[in-house]
Amino acid sequence: MHNVVIIGSGPAGLTAALYAARANLSPLLIEGWQSGGQLTTTTEVENYPGFSKGIMGPELMKEMRSQAERFGTEFLTGDVSAVNLKERPFRLTIDGEQLVETAALIIATGASPIRLGLPEEARLTGHGVSTCATCDGYYFRGKDLVVVGGGDSAIEEAIFLTKFARMVTVVHRRDKLRASKIMQDRAMKNEKISFAWNSVVENILGQDVVTAVRLKNIVTGASTDLPCDGIFVAIGHRPNTDLFTSQLDLDEEGYVRTSQGTATSVAGVFAAGDVQDKKYRQAVTAAGSGCMAAIDAERFLENEHQH
Ligand code: NAP
Repeated sequence: MHNVVIIGSGPAGLTAALYAARANLSPLLIEGWQSGGQLTTTTEVENYPGFSKGIMGPELMKEMRSQAERFGTEFLTGDVSAVNLKERPFRLTIDGEQLVETAALIIATGASPIRLGLPEEARLTGHGVSTCATCDGYYFRGKDLVVVGGGDSAIEEAIFLTKFARMVTVVHRRDKLRASKIMQDRAMKNEKISFAWNSVVENILGQDVVTAVRLKNIVTGASTDLPCDGIFVAIGHRPNTDLFTSQLDLDEEGYVRTSQGTATSVAGVFAAGDVQDKKYRQAVTAAGSGCMAAIDAERFLENEHQH
């Protein structure tokens, strides 16, 4: 029986583990078979405070893991296959067999960017294909870029990218944006942004780096190649909450609802990082909320002891 179990090994989970370990709670962190979260799929991280020369994403995660381990975090590699949050202690099943029991639970399972599902997309990720303008925009000074999507994220990313890029083409599958009016107006007024309406990306071209995208106009059926140096896919994120659907209060998009810090609809269950944040989605904000979740869990356990 554990005091605190943390699910997820991105910045939120590892920071929660660091704080819980330093509070003598001997946390168990379940890190999944793909440890380290979204940062392990990025290259250089330049906006994580404390690293003035930047740090590679995987290296940053390794450091965070060592720091959590140094204070006594126990790690378990495996995927949580089922949870029971209906009674206490909470019960987790790992890889369909091992049972773990805990008095408090911190969910830091993150979110996954939705991908286009094109064969070249995975191969060229980090070589011109990105899902994060804040992370990678800087590397495209004076370049031509494509942003896919018509929602607030796509428009926000397109506007952000104009700080660096020569031109940004927003490729959207309809002839109207989904983004809020104010974002639309800003994008329309921006001279560096143009639109490819009613268009989908059929293929991403390039041997070692992206050199063009093949667009298909879904009204006329015509295909054209648009030369570019990078493509930012911004067609939404999916929170990793399948395990919790019938047991926790989730919003209409599946994100865990939190209140008063990191509390969820079940007392003793806390959520941190992208699994409960569709707005900021930064490593540093995830780490911050991981810290909050550990403090919330610690206070929850303290209160339990006193009653
Ligand atoms: P979103 O609103 O769901 O928009 C996703 C966009 O991608 C839509 O335009 C959609 O097209 C398109 N799309 C989806 N699947 C596609 C596919 N397979 N191929 C091509 N295009 C595809 O997602 P989001 O922009 O990430 O925003 C998520 C939430 O966060 C929203 O509530 C948004 O308002 C909020 N947000 C707010 C801000 C802000 O206020 N500054 C910034 C970012 C996000 P259709 O339009 O045709 O469906």
